[in-house]
Amino acid sequence: MYQYSRAIYRSIKDLVDPYVDPETRIEYRRQVLDACEQTMERLASDPLYFAKPERALFQDIRRYFPITVQAQVAWTVTKGVGAAVEFVEEQIESGAFEGGVARCHATTRKGKPCQRTPLPERDYCPSHQHLERSKIAA
Ligand SMILES: [Zn+2]
Repeated sequence: MYQYSRAIYRSIKDLVDPYVDPETRIEYRRQVLDACEQTMERLASDPLYFAKPERALFQDIRRYFPITVQAQVAWTVTKGVGAAVEFVEEQIESGAFEGGVARCHATTRKGKPCQRTPLPERDYCPSHQHLERSKIAA
């Protein structure tokens, strides 16, 4: 999820209020990054009960931007959060989310689903990552 919050942040960080002093500007950017990351964390841990995450994020950060760029910020946030929501929905459909936490797709030797957390951007945990490679090779 990290790449989605970074992508949003990168697209809007230069739009923060240019009429404040440099230290305040740095602080504003930090608040914006924090808000983006918190939104993504909440989306990842509670995807089914987080209504309108793009609106929530925009409400959190709009005060750091001058009114003239707020439409642009809103658009970027909507696109960026939309992409993250789509990703989360795909994960839910493929069964990777269980109780909000991604699980390894492998089956253990006892025939039970592996309960370990997959590697970032992967379907499998460290002990099952060879399965991913064979899937790609196939
Ligand atoms: Zn595993």
